[in-house]
This record gives sequence, structure tokens and C-alpha cells, in this order.
Amino acid sequence: IIQVQKLKKAFGSHEVLTDINFDVNPGEVVSIIGRSGSGKSTLLRNINLLEEPTGGDILFHGKSILAQNFDLPHYRAAVGMVFQQFNLFSNLTVLDNVVTPQTTVLKRDAAQAKTHALELLNQVGMDPFVNAKPDQLSGGQKQRVAIARAVAMDPEVLLFDEPTSALDPEMVDDVLNAMKNLATTGLTMIVVTHEMAFARDVSDRVVFMNEGVIAEIGTPEQIFDHPQQTATQEFLKRYL
Ligand code: ATP
Ligand code: MG
Repeated sequence: IIQVQKLKKAFGSHEVLTDINFDVNPGEVVSIIGRSGSGKSTLLRNINLLEEPTGGDILFHGKSILAQNFDLPHYRAAVGMVFQQFNLFSNLTVLDNVVTPQTTVLKRDAAQAKTHALELLNQVGMDPFVNAKPDQLSGGQKQRVAIARAVAMDPEVLLFDEPTSALDPEMVDDVLNAMKNLATTGLTMIVVTHEMAFARDVSDRVVFMNEGVIAEIGTPEQIFDHPQQTATQEFLKRYL
């Protein structure tokens, strides 16, 4: 569904991504792990075109997202993102946070949007809080609403950039469980995470990034139990 080919990204003379190649298949959950500064967020931001690649290509359903005639509005709707900071609309209730993007962006009718929102809030365990405002929620609760909101847009691919790293430890599992449930629905997910248990248990494949390249990519068993690269072994020693 997404193919990253010889992707490069430089900020001025600072090359942050040097030669990134990997494919994501429909329904796959791909975790991206690696040290701080290795380029994980930059990679996600190139995939959703928050940043423009300086070299290489990214294909979506076989078509270059960088081509002149590519349907960018469709792509932006098809590829959602969940951030470390949840960015909810603070003046709207939990329910309206999930309803409003559907009615404004997707032009869904209000009743249908509400039904869909309630379903998704139920899935992430946030149905008891539909009438709350975001500032009445814990970080983990906010993040689960943010996930429901992203899913409500019916993305084909959902990108996550360290969705649990701003949370208190006791909130992390609720969010990871919500993501785990999502993964079972067949949604294609690319997840930057420091949660090694999640990467190991939920992903189909794991990408280990080091200094702007993919140092190693494989199944969770390959990466966690039989890492081939010294850099991977050293990284895992610190985290496991
Ligand atoms: P972390 O785990 O800390 O989030 P990361 O793997 O996500 O790290 P990136 O945020 O992708 O790392 O950053 C990779 C490198 O790119 C860093 O050296 C960073 O300073 C640099 N960088 C990122 N964004 C910019 C920018 N807009 N302008 C200049 N340099 C940038
Ligand atoms: Mg990052």
C-alpha cells in the first residue's frame, strides 16, 4: 500500500534520512524503533508529506505521491496521523471531537457521524466520557479520543508517532490496548514507538532505524530474538 524507495531527507546540509527503502502491505502493522535522533519522526513526516522528501520516492497504491498529477487531497484523507501530543479541540466535547471532522471534512450527515463516533469511542473504552471536555481527561484518555477521531476519518493507513511517550506509565497500557484492538480490524498501521513489548507482540514487522538508515528490518522474532546488526543488538540491550 506504501512503498518507500531510496528516500532522502536533508535539512540544509544535514542529511537526516540517507537511503530508506521499505514496503508496507495492506493490513500490516509496522513498528519503527531506534534511538532518539535516528530519523523516525522525519520518516513519518515525509510519508504524510508534512515534510517534502529531498530525494527518492514514496508510492501509494503504486503511484508516486510526489507526482504533479497525484491526488493529494485524497492521499491526505487516506493517511491519518496520531501525534504524541493529542491536539484535541478543547472547546468541544469528546463526542464532538470525533463527530465534527466527519461532518466538516467528509460531509457525513450528523446522525451517521454520531453513530460512527459512538462505536469508535466504545472500542477505545471512552464511551463513558462522551460529554466530557478534553481538559477533564487524563493524558491516556485524551490519546484514546485522538485515536478514535483519527479512525473516524476511515483512513487506509494510520501513522502513530510515539503515541504513548507523553503519558504517565499507568496510562500507557490503555492506549496500547486500544491500538492493539485497532490492529485486529485490519487497519494498516505504521507506529513509531519506544514500547518494545508492543513492537514485539503486535507488529507484523519491525524497522530498526539508526543514523538515518534502516539498519535492520524483519519480523519481531528476527529483530528481537536474532538481531543481526551490532547496532540493533546494542539498542535492544538498553531497552529490553
Ligand atoms: P526521537 O526519538 O527523539 O523523537 P527521531 O528518531 O524521531 O527522534 P527526528 O525527529 O526524525 O528523530 O530527527 C532526526 C534528526 O533530524 C535530528 O538530528 C533532528 O535534529 C533533525 N531534524 C528534524 N526535524 C528538523 C527540522 N525541521 N529542521 C532541521 N533539523 C531537523
Ligand atoms: Mg521522533
